[in-house]
Amino acid sequence: MTDMINWQLCYIGLGSNLEDPYRQVSSALEELTALPDCRAHAHSRLYRSDPVGPPGQPDYVNAVACFETTLEPLALLDALQAIEQAHQRVRIQHWGPRTLDLDLLLYGNQVIENERLTVPHAFMKERSFVLYPLADLAPDTRLPDGTGLAELLANCPQGTLEPINR
Ligand code: ATP
Ligand code: MG
Ligand code: MG
Repeated sequence: MTDMINWQLCYIGLGSNLEDPYRQVSSALEELTALPDCRAHAHSRLYRSDPVGPPGQPDYVNAVACFETTLEPLALLDALQAIEQAHQRVRIQHWGPRTLDLDLLLYGNQVIENERLTVPHAFMKERSFVLYPLADLAPDTRLPDGTGLAELLANCPQGTLEPINR
């Protein structure tokens, strides 16, 4: 029988720079695998990156996860925000330090623009800590506008971003 359910391949950017960031990201990767209506999970290596935003923050740990889902985009965002909340994320300062950030980078080939969600993620094209982990997972990725990941990487030096060996 044909699978009539509409599975969408999505990519999630993870980031943390508080309260043992390596552990925050590792446990969030586990928690993503427990989401309902999601299957075929994979993730990049974990990376260390320099903080962006207000100065004086600790380094970040970043990774990208992917899975297939039948959750609608806003239902997926709700689920991601519930995981952030479970990690005691507190929003004090824009781009300030956080225990866990989960951003929806790509949702199938869809372009989404509404009050709660911009997909592809607004800054993913210029963020090394998104593009290099994404390249671990899916180097042939194309954005809905046709831009290839290879082209984005060529315009975004890896700089001090480095995979963590543990
Ligand atoms: P940035 O967007 O620059 O990575 P941030 O991740 O620190 O910043 P948050 O405080 O996590 O920003 O999110 C602020 C709001 O962004 C959320 O409440 C959410 O509604 C909205 N948002 C828009 N597009 C997305 C997306 N693709 N993934 C996650 N949140 C999004
Ligand atoms: Mg973010
Ligand atoms: Mg976010």
